[in-house]
Amino acid sequence: MSIKKNYDHIENDKEYKGLKVNKGIDHPETFNEDSIQRFLKNKRKRIKTADDYVEGILAGNITTLSQAVTLVESSKKEHQEVAREIITKCLPYSGKSLRIGITGVPGVGKSTFIESMGKFITKQGGKLAVLAIDPSSERSKGSILGDKTRMEQLSSDPNAYIRPSPSAGSLGGVARKTRETIILCEAAGFDTIFIETVGVGQSETMVHSMVDFFLLLMLAGAGDELQGIKRGIMEMADAITINKADGNNVDKAEMARIQYLNALHLFPPTDSGWKPKVLTCSAFHHIGIDKIWETIQEYISLVEKNGYFQHKRNEQAKFWMYETINDHLKSDFYQNEELKELTSSFENKVLGQEMSSFVAAFELLNKYYQTKKY
Ligand code: GDP
Repeated sequence: MSIKKNYDHIENDKEYKGLKVNKGIDHPETFNEDSIQRFLKNKRKRIKTADDYVEGILAGNITTLSQAVTLVESSKKEHQEVAREIITKCLPYSGKSLRIGITGVPGVGKSTFIESMGKFITKQGGKLAVLAIDPSSERSKGSILGDKTRMEQLSSDPNAYIRPSPSAGSLGGVARKTRETIILCEAAGFDTIFIETVGVGQSETMVHSMVDFFLLLMLAGAGDELQGIKRGIMEMADAITINKADGNNVDKAEMARIQYLNALHLFPPTDSGWKPKVLTCSAFHHIGIDKIWETIQEYISLVEKNGYFQHKRNEQAKFWMYETINDHLKSDFYQNEELKELTSSFENKVLGQEMSSFVAAFELLNKYYQTKKY
């Protein structure tokens, strides 16, 4: 190891009168550089095991949580294997959060609402994870939901974790990954989970199948068709909130609230025994946020008492088992290299009426089963 020679300081020269710089202590040129480099190299090389991830997640380490979520989202087989092990080991520590689905058309104020409600929750000492299901994100090459730049305050809040939608795969695949991410977030200590989605397609059904409470955000003065909200989505909602109830929009919001309340009366009673509520709020001005939170708490205490909470979670767990099987079988079939050509040639034959749809399907399935035999 080379030792730096201590030299006499220039200011001890005769020119600098009245100034004496003392000789410093000899010190090594670098702090044991060899061993630092060795340490860094080993650290880089060492691949984390599932147990390492689990340990980090249970300790609430956000970096480890994010890395584990990336494994869940990965389509690589070896990543999926580790991800499965992590999820299995985190499962006993999961399930204790409140899972809330939030939907509404673009522009209704979802991110503003999540930020406002999110700050309300973290100020009370809660820990919030915001996840998203955005099936369009593959096409748009980047998620429009769960975007950190849209929720500036929350993204710098140490008690909040924001994760954009997984971007690859079918809606079922994207939703399954989000559901698995819920488990990891819960194991990391998040007690409230928001799942955000755009209220225009089928993704609400998926979100509904993984949350305890489903909140639909609406605007006053725009017809249902204008808002692109289907009746089925309204039927799924445990509460509807008319957002932007501020300024000269307050009266209109109240009118809309009454209209939606009347519309909900026409729906059949819910299995939970809960009567869906209609509220107004201003996410931007933080008005009515506390009322919505109270409503959610009211719902939860009702369904916890009457057993519906656990019943719904059990049904959801079952749903996801079958959904995962369906998803896996489908992708295994369509990604089977030996079948791809045959499938497209059979498709042409069906179109040319040389073959019936059913015969083509059965022959393809037979061929598929043959490729599975060893
Ligand atoms: P998202 O597309 O559903 O996530 O909607 P955003 O949260 O991005 O909001 C869309 C626009 O509506 C933004 O310009 C917001 O500032 C505005 N906005 C959201 N909430 C409110 C509200 O409560 N009152 C008013 N006046 N504007 C709001």
